[in-house]
Amino acid sequence: MVPITDEASNSFLPLSVVKSSAWWQLLSGVPMRIDILCLFPEMFVSPFSHSIVKRAEENGLVEVVTHNIRDYTHDRHGTADDYPYGGGAGMVLKPEPIFEASEHIGQLTGVQEIPRILLTPQGRPFTQRIAAELAAQPQLMFICGHYEGVDERVAEHMVTDELSIGDYVLTGGEIAAMVVIDSVVRLIPGVLGSDESAADDSHSEGLLEYPQYTRPEQFREWNVPPVLLSGNHGEIAAWRRRQSLLRTALRRPDLLDKLTLTDKELAWISDSLSSQR
Ligand code: SAM
Repeated sequence: MVPITDEASNSFLPLSVVKSSAWWQLLSGVPMRIDILCLFPEMFVSPFSHSIVKRAEENGLVEVVTHNIRDYTHDRHGTADDYPYGGGAGMVLKPEPIFEASEHIGQLTGVQEIPRILLTPQGRPFTQRIAAELAAQPQLMFICGHYEGVDERVAEHMVTDELSIGDYVLTGGEIAAMVVIDSVVRLIPGVLGSDESAADDSHSEGLLEYPQYTRPEQFREWNVPPVLLSGNHGEIAAWRRRQSLLRTALRRPDLLDKLTLTDKELAWISDSLSSQR
């Protein structure tokens, strides 16, 4: 890693914050490195060749490296999976190639202590908060299972975290890794342009985002809310905050329980909900 310079220590952020956060990446010019261990690396080509992830790579803010687990096998068939002990349907990914791939990446990058994340429907539910935590890391590794899953010794002795993207079962961890990586990359400082911001996005502050409108002002018989055309930034911000609160109360009331709202906001939500009944 590039040593921090005096220039960076004179930045507007305290040195401890600079060193411990993704701002380090931006200031040092070292891209976040993401290694993916999987059976089907080609699946990542198209999703990461467009839009924000592509732009982040082109701008040197992130480097995504895929590894085929089969390349770390030693038999001529490239056997990466085997029958489950105890019987049962399907195959299980073997531990040796996954450990070897991980150790190889450690040697290559000279960094051993990196988050090694297994995608699994049994993991902790992935959230925007976890995405923000991961976006502050200099390096990440994702392990994608397939078939019936991965030999448990990988989870027990190699991975540092297990993430699930929802209570359903995918065929493999590749799509889950894409979901996680996409949401992490857009939070790396400098990835989103100044006209794009993640701050108001749903789940960033625990609320759903307010409704958005664009031209035309009138479409069929439906008009854009007049406040958005008023040019009054204070009123627009207040309207958006109230819409966020109302939307969250209607669609995801469970999210409101985790927030500290003012008495005024709580009263406003209560009045709005009763007027909608
Ligand atoms: N037999 C496993 C179980 O019941 O827990 C499911 C295996 S699934 C068919 C194959 C792989 O897809 C998993 O090893 C995991 O990597 C990935 N996967 C499936 N569903 C997922 C989810 N909801 N979140 C993250 N990864 C998932």
